[in-house]
Amino acid sequence: MKRKFDLSTLKSFAKKEHQRLQKYYNLSDRKQLNLPITVKIMEELGELCNEVLANSGLQRKEKLEKMQKDNLAEEFADVILTACILAENMGVDIEKGVKKKMEKIEKRYK
Ligand SMILES: [Mg+2]
Repeated sequence: MKRKFDLSTLKSFAKKEHQRLQKYYNLSDRKQLNLPITVKIMEELGELCNEVLANSGLQRKEKLEKMQKDNLAEEFADVILTACILAENMGVDIEKGVKKKMEKIEKRYK
């Protein structure tokens, strides 16, 4: 049976992962996690860029040979998940933010 997936599922996952990180790093002040998670987003973004370049055939041949071919979707997921964990850490309602942004973009092109 397929598991239902929506933005709430993503939010719950981010909340659980955020709690795990807080416990792992033994941090009581949430603000201490803002910078490391932000840096992690940049790391994941770099990995996504690497996959985009590879997917477009724009990496060196030696590098392409070492890379797995099915990583693109997972690298997109890493960026999205890490951003959701940062939102959770900062108390930002990502679902509300995404809905509002989508409405703004749709209005822009009406
Ligand atoms: Mg990654």
